[in-house]
Amino acid sequence: MIEKRQFYINGQWVDPVEGRDHPVINPSTEEACATISLGGQADTDAAVAAAKAAFPDWAATPAEDRIALVEKLLAVYGSRAQEMSELTSMEMGAPIDMSKGSQTPCGNWHLANFIDAARQFPFEHALSDDAPNDLISHEPIGVCALITPWNWPMNQVTLKVGAAAIAGCTMVLKPSEESPLNALLFAEIMHEAGFPPGVFNLVNGDGLGVGTQLSSHPDVDMISFTGSTRAGKLITKAAADTLKRVSLELGGKGANLVFADADDRAVKRGVAHMMNNSGQSCNAPSRMMVESSAYDQAVEIAAEMANKISVGPASEHGRHIGPVVNETQWTKIQGLIQTGIDEGARLVAGGVGRPDGLNKGYYVRPTVFADVTPDMTIAKEEIFGPVLSIMKFETEQEAVALANDTPYGLTNYVQSQDKARCNRLARVLRSGMVEMNGKSRGAGSPFGGMKQSGNGREGGKWGIEDFLEVKAISDWTPE
Ligand code: NAD
Repeated sequence: MIEKRQFYINGQWVDPVEGRDHPVINPSTEEACATISLGGQADTDAAVAAAKAAFPDWAATPAEDRIALVEKLLAVYGSRAQEMSELTSMEMGAPIDMSKGSQTPCGNWHLANFIDAARQFPFEHALSDDAPNDLISHEPIGVCALITPWNWPMNQVTLKVGAAAIAGCTMVLKPSEESPLNALLFAEIMHEAGFPPGVFNLVNGDGLGVGTQLSSHPDVDMISFTGSTRAGKLITKAAADTLKRVSLELGGKGANLVFADADDRAVKRGVAHMMNNSGQSCNAPSRMMVESSAYDQAVEIAAEMANKISVGPASEHGRHIGPVVNETQWTKIQGLIQTGIDEGARLVAGGVGRPDGLNKGYYVRPTVFADVTPDMTIAKEEIFGPVLSIMKFETEQEAVALANDTPYGLTNYVQSQDKARCNRLARVLRSGMVEMNGKSRGAGSPFGGMKQSGNGREGGKWGIEDFLEVKAISDWTPE
């Protein structure tokens, strides 16, 4: 059993002042795999004080030197990839091959993209060619608290730490208490990369404790949060009294509009994307909306595809999906599947209960519902499990109305070979991202949502901008 009770504060591993033991549960076995400590106010205060003390020097460090340290971070991160993949897989249930192939490499990808963006980032520039004595300076906002979820843990940690470090901010990371081990390893990596003491600090804790303490802390200038819309609202309220910047990356209920002229693989691709990471992705295309003439065939293909997806322990090699993260999520997903049945959706694959042969572990059957209508709970709530809802539409206008009929607005998807239609839809879908015909967004492109999916943008130059203040200076003498 792993024991990791210490926090990383001011460049050192320190014992908690007010720690409470917390078991980390392996969702494949339902057994504890580690013990960490959840900190209290004194631990939060110590980490924030270290970040505050380190800020002036770090902010004054030339951008080239900060970028060089992030380059070192990327190299060290690469050298610890195997450990990172194993810990992530064990604590949050991503199958080991998926953890190695997707979870851990997200970190390399984001750090490399930040380095590229930073090399071209204009930290200081004239207001315009006509105003050379007006300087616009992009300066770090200060001490940042980074609060992250468990579903794509290194994706979130690197998106925040990489950008904050390049911007010149100092930081306190509070990873999810469900998946803290990857973040503890990341703190070792930061140390090995040689960041000055206090620039990066880590305190473990839960939302009500360290999470709330950071959100309301007078010496924290910004919260960068990724997680549920529920917690995003609580954080925003807790942050209000100190008027700190709150950057939010929240939940989603993505629509995948499949037109009759979509390519042959469109439905299969949509199902695979939905089930990936056991449905635990904020950008999952969880509402598949199909044009009526292609509907019956799409339902058949989706059911067949879901029935072929195997489910098993995270430690096993292969292309199966793993368990969901914990008992709370498992019970919530089971309840939503039952609600789908009770409200009259047509179950065409999966259903309640564990998959055959799996009696222990938080495993969910890959589930597909057809004939879902907009008033049903499964059409509205983020399920965060391997559950796809299929709906029918007649016209393009109806498809857009259905897609936009949600408080969320993270990613929507379009499948059609009619390029003019794709462009039309891209403009009217109310989401921070629109992905068409299975083509992923480019390197360094911004990730973030509209409406209740949040207000932040992470990745590339937009990710760096999130951590900066803009200062306007007059009578500047160009150097
Ligand atoms: P969660 O909101 O329960 O927890 C996320 C983090 O917030 C954890 O570190 C938790 O301890 C902390 N937290 C919880 N309540 C808090 C509070 N009141 N104050 C301060 N901190 C608090 O979310 P989760 O279950 O870990 O993650 C799943 C959610 O994250 C889903 O809704 C998913 O859509 C969302 N998500 C969004 C993105 C995105 O970029 N938009 C990416 C990944 C996940």
